[in-house]
Amino acid sequence: MLEESRYYFQKAAKALDLSDKTQKILLTPYRVVKVEVVTDGHDGEWLHHVGYRVQHDNSRGPMKGGLRYHPSVDEDDATALATLMTWKTAIVNIPYGGAKGGINCNPQELTDKELFDITHEFVGHIREIIGPNLDIPAPDVNTNADIMAWIMDEYSNHYGFSPAVVTGKPVHLFGSEGREEATGRGVMIALEKALETQHKSLKGIRVALQGFGNVGSHAARLIAEKGGRIVAVGDHKGGIENKDGLDVSKLIAYVKEHKTVSGFAGGNAFKSEDVLTWDCDVLIPAALGGVLTAENANDVRASIIVEAANAPTTPEADEIFHRRNIMVIPDVLANAGGVTVSYFEWAQNIQQFKWELERIHNELYKIMTRAFEAVLDMAKRKQTDLRTAAYILGIGRVARATLSRTHHSLSKFEQFD
Ligand code: NAD
Repeated sequence: MLEESRYYFQKAAKALDLSDKTQKILLTPYRVVKVEVVTDGHDGEWLHHVGYRVQHDNSRGPMKGGLRYHPSVDEDDATALATLMTWKTAIVNIPYGGAKGGINCNPQELTDKELFDITHEFVGHIREIIGPNLDIPAPDVNTNADIMAWIMDEYSNHYGFSPAVVTGKPVHLFGSEGREEATGRGVMIALEKALETQHKSLKGIRVALQGFGNVGSHAARLIAEKGGRIVAVGDHKGGIENKDGLDVSKLIAYVKEHKTVSGFAGGNAFKSEDVLTWDCDVLIPAALGGVLTAENANDVRASIIVEAANAPTTPEADEIFHRRNIMVIPDVLANAGGVTVSYFEWAQNIQQFKWELERIHNELYKIMTRAFEAVLDMAKRKQTDLRTAAYILGIGRVARATLSRTHHSLSKFEQFD
């Protein structure tokens, strides 16, 4: 993943004509922390894990990014994802830098008490480098609102009442209305804007999704509410299709109970991987990274791809989509609705004033729309694809902020407001 994120960075750096030194400064993380996490297991044996927090850049504000609990968590992945967060927060122009981290544990093998102890121990080790004005973690793979509440609690034990130290908290405990569906809502808005560029609306558009978890299910629901037809969904167990459109509310209820779309009675079963090459207008990968590759990119039939998942497209596939004139709305833009509403949660915590859902929806719409238009405008000016344009915009803003804080010449970056 680190290599892929560097590839996209370098494409934009070339377009921006950044010197090697500037590139190095922009890419090198601000701080990398690796800690040992030793706790007692339920059977009396010690549990041993390693936790990471990579803080990539803070030139535009406190660093922001998720905490992932997964055996694959390591320094390289955390660095790649922290760097992506820096560009993402800059692209949607919210006052944050980027960070990411996690623990190399497998929550499926842990009891709730073990997870609680691991979280507390980890926070004990990183509490000096996180904080409402420093670095604000959030949920990511296998972490959730409950874990964020534990982090808030442990941090507050040391520094006093500090709900703004994490986002993605339970709504009853200083979380924000609308956070749960925010990424899916952002995906829907980005798609709507993309269709507008082709003088189309969501009405009647045929959509296939890989993944029907938090992001996929909310995106599907909101797209269907606006007249889109969800014709196929694939998840970790199987796929389900219906040419006339799946009944999304029924599918959501089914998945809540069965934890998969497989076996849903409102459609026909198919092999999950086939969803990526399904006959549709829009493909939304909303599950895993690296699923669109040189092997399947030529078979993709959608004319628009909305990257709801992080890094679903390999650079080789990206080149193929560009050649085939398939519009790819990149992850750094398409899935930025989540971090945007996290920003609203942080703002509410600092203001100690709760916003109503309608305000959240309106502000999210404004931010996603402005970001989409800015990326589109950059793509036209630089005659490039949306991903490169988004990276140029994000990197340009970060470079400008970095240089503004020093006595270096800014002239090259004046366009990056
Ligand atoms: P989730 O755990 O709620 O859902 C994941 C979905 O992916 C499930 O439907 C699961 O069945 C499916 N899946 C897992 N393995 C699969 C496989 N091998 N083939 C097909 N489907 C498979 O996760 P989520 O929160 O919806 O996140 C999905 C993606 O979006 C991830 O890449 C995540 O990093 C990214 N993302 C999430 C958010 C957020 O706010 N949740 C924000 C930004 C990016």
